[in-house]
Amino acid sequence: MADDRPDARPLSPSTVAVTAGRPRHEADQPLNHPITMASTFVGGGEREYGRSGNPTWEAFEDVLGRLEGGRALAFSSGLAAVSTVLDLVGQGALVVAPDAAYQGSLAQIADLELRGRLTSRLVDIADTDAVLAALDEDVALVWVESPTNPNLDVADLERICTRAHEVGAYVVVDNTFATPLLQQPITAGADIVLHSATKYLSGHSDVLLGALVTADEQLYPVLRQRRELQGSTPGTLEAWLATRGLRTLHLRVERAQANAMELARRLDEHPAVARVRYPGFGCIVSIELAAGPLAADLLTRKTRLWVFATSLGGVESTLERRRRWKGESQHVSEALVRLSVGVEDVEDLWADLGAALDGLVEVVTDRG
Ligand SMILES: *Cc1c(COP(=O)(O)O)cnc(C)c1O
Repeated sequence: MADDRPDARPLSPSTVAVTAGRPRHEADQPLNHPITMASTFVGGGEREYGRSGNPTWEAFEDVLGRLEGGRALAFSSGLAAVSTVLDLVGQGALVVAPDAAYQGSLAQIADLELRGRLTSRLVDIADTDAVLAALDEDVALVWVESPTNPNLDVADLERICTRAHEVGAYVVVDNTFATPLLQQPITAGADIVLHSATKYLSGHSDVLLGALVTADEQLYPVLRQRRELQGSTPGTLEAWLATRGLRTLHLRVERAQANAMELARRLDEHPAVARVRYPGFGCIVSIELAAGPLAADLLTRKTRLWVFATSLGGVESTLERRRRWKGESQHVSEALVRLSVGVEDVEDLWADLGAALDGLVEVVTDRG
């Protein structure tokens, strides 16, 4: 990206998404970094071996780092990034974490606790007073996810970060749901930002990728070394696809968010829906079906445009009942369906979803 502009006004995130992570503007340079397939590089330089770096990963890291306000590292998956962060804490360390959040992150914490590696203190992350009360001098790491998957609870990042730093704890924020366009945790004080780049950053349901971002000059080399030691490196094609995805992140999020807002409003008025969970921003809407878990399962099989599938953040709208997974938190309703709203036409999405829900009203009435 041309950084030598005479006016140093910061670029808007949309412009960063399009212009960062490019080769220099020089004759015969390609506009995009190519896919560099390399296990080894000619010796004597920075990279040497393919596990320590790759120009295709670095293009992705450049864009994401600029969007989040730090330096980014790409990982083989979101969960590889999760284990890298959890690996940082000392033996027996105390970790404060949400009682409901992405099940894979909570499963890793529970697994490490079972094996005596750390202890956890679980809190309702939206209850700021409860979170602050849980932060004492014993805490080494505060695990935050906001909005949470799939309850869409929102944490007060600034107050949590301030208190955590007072007691000497690090804060990691899983920013997968908000994306750097809707929330920048580093600005709020977070030490590390985590992404499942599998979701919005890539955006087309064709990539598994994770990322960590930090503005802490001491933490960055530590995280980088962990990636190299653990070998949790991204695939080159995946990093390239994710960079291509980032180019339209602002367009996709803007459209999907507008769709989600409108759908949340309509869902709120539908008699088959007992509760709509929507934090007022973002592209995920969770609903709790009035007729319970069976109706929720039925809904996910009755839609035509909306695809019954796990995961989220793609251009296509998907839905699933989260408690169909054994590992999902008990704090998530059995009747909750998570809707990942895509970028299709909102009237088409509503026609499909509304019709499927209308069918469920009859199920409720039939039962009296
Ligand atoms: C999907 C997800 C993860 C895990 O990422 P993978 O890329 O699937 O390994 C972590 N956090 C959140 C919030 C997620 O939704």
